[in-house]
Amino acid sequence: MIRPNLTIEAIPAGEPFIGPERIMRERGLQTMLRLGANESAFGPSPRAVAAMAAELPRLSWYGDPDSYALRNALAERWNTGRDDVLVTSGIDELLGLVVRCFLAPGEAVVASAGTYPTFAYHAIGYGGRVESVAYREDGRIDLDELAAAAQRCNAAICYLANPDNPSGSFADADAILRFRSALPARTLLLLDEAYAEFADPQALVEPRPLPGVVRARTFSKLYGMAGARIGYGLAPQALLAPMLKVRLQYGVNRNAQIGALAALTDDAFAHDVLDRTARGRAEYAALGAELGLPTLDSSSNFVCFDCSSRDRADALLEALLQRGVWTRKPGIAPLDRCVRVTVGDEGDRARFAAELRAICMRVTT
Ligand SMILES: *Cc1c(COP(=O)(O)O)cnc(C)c1O
Repeated sequence: MIRPNLTIEAIPAGEPFIGPERIMRERGLQTMLRLGANESAFGPSPRAVAAMAAELPRLSWYGDPDSYALRNALAERWNTGRDDVLVTSGIDELLGLVVRCFLAPGEAVVASAGTYPTFAYHAIGYGGRVESVAYREDGRIDLDELAAAAQRCNAAICYLANPDNPSGSFADADAILRFRSALPARTLLLLDEAYAEFADPQALVEPRPLPGVVRARTFSKLYGMAGARIGYGLAPQALLAPMLKVRLQYGVNRNAQIGALAALTDDAFAHDVLDRTARGRAEYAALGAELGLPTLDSSSNFVCFDCSSRDRADALLEALLQRGVWTRKPGIAPLDRCVRVTVGDEGDRARFAAELRAICMRVTT
């Protein structure tokens, strides 16, 4: 009888991520307001679109497996060497590569319980043990407990999203560097910075390769290119070299490389998205205050509305969906009392506010 290997066979069948397209199909919805995946409401840079459109006829060519031009541009931006940059098909691919290269079957990794799930997904897929640490009651990551857990199980990898998803919380450079030195010497810190651009640049760990740390960045969020699938790792060359041995050599879409390179030149676009996102966050905070759904501080392009109990949060998620508004919510306490809403553009936010007000009125009367 033909069977998968024991690691794969031991994983329960399940649905790691249900996409919005499936929800629309199952509910028979023709349109849906997509505020559930932290996709940018502001689209890609027009420069990226133009560059990609111009190159589309050459789709018959493979992309450059070295991503040479893009790595050069990123190295220049971060004032480091080209070999300290690895371009991947989004952060999601990079997380899998780090796990594949730095975790042996049976070893432990640590992460916050209920943080961005793709790291644990890969760790389980490669036969690791995931030790998780609860969020603090205020919704922030418990860095002391995370480091203690890494010490206890001598973790191969510690995953930390900063700014975090789903909480939106942010730890400044001092806290991150202190955290790094509290980890065991053998532990690789996988620092997922998908939302780094949305945080206060003064408070961010200086963007350069750090010893023992793989920093993950993406074009999916600020640059609005989630569908193109492109991101990169920033790390000392010695940490990236093992990944070059096993990565999918032609896994990064040619057009995505071209778009990402063009996007990097468009600082005015990036600033505009940051401004509009900050305005959206402030608007959500005011809306939450008005409706008795206080929001958690966020350094990202989404905001958590605190519904004070899991049941109320579940009910709000469902009520929004019935009105054609797709959001998501954390599944694990204490954050499971929240509904996470992506910052939409001005029109999206007006629609969201109207639906949320209507739901809250109905509940209270
Ligand atoms: C959205 C998100 C990602 C996904 O990044 P891709 O580059 O699109 O794979 C990774 N990490 C976090 C924390 C995210 O929220």
